[in-house]
Amino acid sequence: MYKDINISLSPKESSFDNTIKRKAAEFLKIKEEEIKEIQKIKSSIDARRRNIKVNLRLRVWIGENPDNPNFSMEGIDSVKTNKSSKSVIIVGAGPAGLFAALLLIRKGIKPIILERGKCVEERKLDIRDLYRSGIVNTESNFSFGEGGAGTFSDGKLFTRSKKRGNVNEILQILHYYGAQEDILWKGHPHVGTDVLSKIIVNIRKDILNFGGEIHFKTKVTNLIVENKNIKGVKTENKDFKSDNVILATGHSAKDVYKFLEESNIKIESKDFAVGVRLEHPQALIDQIQYHSKEGRGKYLPAAEYSFVGQFSDRGVFSFCMCPGGIVVPASTEDGLQVVNGMSSSGRNTIWANSAMVCQVRQDDLLAYKEYGNLAGLYFQEDMEKIAYKFAGGKLKAPAQRMKDFVERKFSNDFPKSSYKMGLTSCDMYKVLPNFVSKSLKEAFISFGKKANGFLTNEAVMIGVETRTSSPVRIPRDRENMEHVQIQGLYPCGEGAGYAGGIVSAAMDGYTCASRISEKY
Ligand SMILES: Cc1cc2nc3c(=O)[nH]c(=O)nc-3n(C[C@H](O)[C@H](O)[C@H](O)COP(=O)(O)OP(=O)(O)OC[C@H]3O[C@@H](n4cnc5c(N)ncnc54)[C@H](O)[C@@H]3O)c2cc1C
Repeated sequence: MYKDINISLSPKESSFDNTIKRKAAEFLKIKEEEIKEIQKIKSSIDARRRNIKVNLRLRVWIGENPDNPNFSMEGIDSVKTNKSSKSVIIVGAGPAGLFAALLLIRKGIKPIILERGKCVEERKLDIRDLYRSGIVNTESNFSFGEGGAGTFSDGKLFTRSKKRGNVNEILQILHYYGAQEDILWKGHPHVGTDVLSKIIVNIRKDILNFGGEIHFKTKVTNLIVENKNIKGVKTENKDFKSDNVILATGHSAKDVYKFLEESNIKIESKDFAVGVRLEHPQALIDQIQYHSKEGRGKYLPAAEYSFVGQFSDRGVFSFCMCPGGIVVPASTEDGLQVVNGMSSSGRNTIWANSAMVCQVRQDDLLAYKEYGNLAGLYFQEDMEKIAYKFAGGKLKAPAQRMKDFVERKFSNDFPKSSYKMGLTSCDMYKVLPNFVSKSLKEAFISFGKKANGFLTNEAVMIGVETRTSSPVRIPRDRENMEHVQIQGLYPCGEGAGYAGGIVSAAMDGYTCASRISEKY
C-alpha cells in the first residue's frame, strides 16, 4: 500500500533522499525499514519568510514496491507496422509541430514535417556565426529551425493553460526523450537549452525511425486551397499534397501571416505585449528572494521572481524569467533588434534576466490601421527598427540602467552583461513607444517597493523584447480545431494564437493531431 503525505523540510534536508525517508517515517510514525520506495509528486519552495521551506508531496510505499508501469510511447511503431498510407502535412518543427507528429505516428498516420530552418546541429553553427558576424540568417536563428523557438531557451515547462490538454503526458514524453526526472514533480520545472537540444534530436530520430518524414530547409510559401478545402502547401521547390495541414509556424513567421492575408484566409489582430529584458546580478535576486545577505547558499536554486500590476491603465508583467541565464539576440531579420533569454540546465551564470513587458491593445495600433489585421506586426517591426538604429546596428542592444531610466538620467557605463553583442547607452524613452516607457517606469517603482533592492542601477534594461506572443490569431473552430473557413487546415501553437510557451504549444500540437486522427 502507499500513503500520500505532505511534509515541509529545510532546503538542506530536502536535498538528501535518506533525510526525506527519515522525515517521512517520522511523519507516518513507522520504521524507516518499512518504506520500500518514495516517489516525489510535487515540490515547491516557500520563500515568503526568512525561514525558507521546501514543501514536498510524497507517495510513500509501505511494505510493498510500487507497481506503476514505466511510461511508454505506446503505438509509436503504428505507421511502420500498418504500412499506413494516410499522411498529414505539418508546417513547422517547433514544439507544436513535433508533438503533433508524435501523436500522429502513434495513431498510425504518417507526418510529413516541412521546416524552413535546419536541424539542431546545423542551427547551432548558424547561431555561432550570428554571434561572430552580427548578421542574422533569416532561415536559421534563435526562432527558426528544428525545435522552433523552444530549442535555445530556458526550457521552463510551467504552463497555466492546463485545461487545453494533459500537461503531465507532455512532461512524461519530454522525460522519455531525455529530460531530467525532476520535471515530473517540480513546481516550476525547467530543462535548459543543453538538455532541450538533445531531446529534440531524440524526438527527430523516433519520427524518422517510425515512418515520419522531416524536410529541413523547406519553406512553405503558400497553401493550396480548392473550394474551401485544403489540398496541400507550396514550398520554394515543390508542392506537397494532403487533405490535412497543421500550420504550426510560430509567432515570428511574418511571411506566413502575410500570405494568409493576401489569400483572404481569415486572420485576426490580437492583443500582445512588448517591453525590454531586465538583467540583474543573480546574487542580488537571490538575496532579495531568499531574504539573506548570504544569498541562496548551497541547497537552493537560483531564485526566480514574478511581478504583475496595472500601471497607467494597462497590465505590466515580468515574463519568461531566466535565472542564471543570458540575454540573446532573437531577431529573425537584419535591421531589426529583438532580445530574449535562455539558460542551461544548471542555471549557473551570474545573471538573472526576465522580460518586463506592457500590454499592447488594439487602440494602440490606430496609427497602423492601414495594415488591417497585420497592424500589430508592423507596430512590432517599427519598435525593432528603432531599437536597431539607436543601438548602432550589428545586433547591439539599446540599454539603460534601471534606476537611471526611472530618474531619466543617461547611463555612462554598464555593469558586465551577458548580452554578447554589446550594449549602447540610450534614452529608452526614445526607443520605446511612450505608453510603454510610461507604464514601465511606474511598474519599476512599484516592483521596487514590493521587493527591496529590485529597483537598482545594478540592473540594466536591454531592448527590445517584442516577440513575447503573437500579435495575430488564426481563428479556428473551438471543437474540431479546423480553421473557421478552410476545412482540413489546423492553425496550431503560438503562431496561431493558441499557446504561449513550450508546453502549451506541445499540448496544442498534440490536441490538433488527435482531432485529425479522430476524423480518420
Ligand atoms: C530565446 C527564447 C526563449 C524562450 N524560453 C521559453 C521558456 O523557457 N519556456 C517556454 O515555455 N517558452 C519559451 N519560449 C517560447 C517558446 O519557445 C514558444 O512559445 C514555443 O516554441 C512555441 O512553439 P510553436 O511550435 O508554436 O512555434 P515555434 O517554436 O516558433 O516553431 C515554429 C517553427 O515553424 C518554422 N516555420 C516558420 N515559418 C515556416 C514556413 N513558412 N515554412 C516552414 N517552416 C516554418 C520555424 O522555423 C519554427 O521552427 C522562448 C522563446 C525564445 C525565442
